[in-house]
Amino acid sequence: MNRITLNGIIIRDKELGEKDKVIKIFTAEKGIISAIVRRGQSVKSGNGSIAQLLAYCRFSLFEGKGGFIVNEIEIKELFWGVRENLESLALAQYFCELCFSWVPDEETSPELLRLFLNTLYYLSYKKKSRTLLKAVFELRGCVLCGYMPDLLCCNKCRKFDSKGMIFFVRSGNLNCKDCVSIQKNSYGKVLSSGVLSALRHVVYSDADKIFSFSISEESEKQLGSICEEYINEHIGVNFKSLDFYKSLIQFSKLDTI
Ligand SMILES: [Zn+2]
Repeated sequence: MNRITLNGIIIRDKELGEKDKVIKIFTAEKGIISAIVRRGQSVKSGNGSIAQLLAYCRFSLFEGKGGFIVNEIEIKELFWGVRENLESLALAQYFCELCFSWVPDEETSPELLRLFLNTLYYLSYKKKSRTLLKAVFELRGCVLCGYMPDLLCCNKCRKFDSKGMIFFVRSGNLNCKDCVSIQKNSYGKVLSSGVLSALRHVVYSDADKIFSFSISEESEKQLGSICEEYINEHIGVNFKSLDFYKSLIQFSKLDTI
């Protein structure tokens, strides 16, 4: 058996019989891989208990004909801030599901992995709101996986900016209101200038600057609903984890009344 070492984050874990566990690891080098963690195995790092969802680790793996078996795990980051908060954890589980739908088997996506880890970092250390992080991850993830909207200018008259630009989620195109009447097409979203510049930032900025923007609370809500709609339109999967996350938010709103 070959022995390889990889960095990656666990994005699914499932019990396998009474002793073992099968984990899915999102790695830069090999995309999403499956590996078996044997709990009875004598390994110095105590694999069974630390091989849990959202653990970012250095994995030493044996590669055999039937797949990977975990030999050793060295933890790099556990994102405790995410684990401590039920809403953040639910949101992170939704991000995991998105990774599965975006990354096909045997394909690598190191930029998406980087975005995922950065988003979890901001979520864990409470650097940005959950609404904003969700919107950035949804839209930038779509961009990285080939679903890129065209937000540069009106796609009819090429105007870069005018009041009340309209975004069409389905086509991913932008139009100015001189070219398109919103009444004629109910799918269009009239954008405030704050939301338009935030959308452009998320789509076009360098990876290391992606979270470096601020937005009003009102605009953040519109940004959030547009990005979620973009996912529904272009990915079209009914994510259970998203339903669960939303039900938690509803519940916490009720709780504060
Ligand atoms: Zn126009």
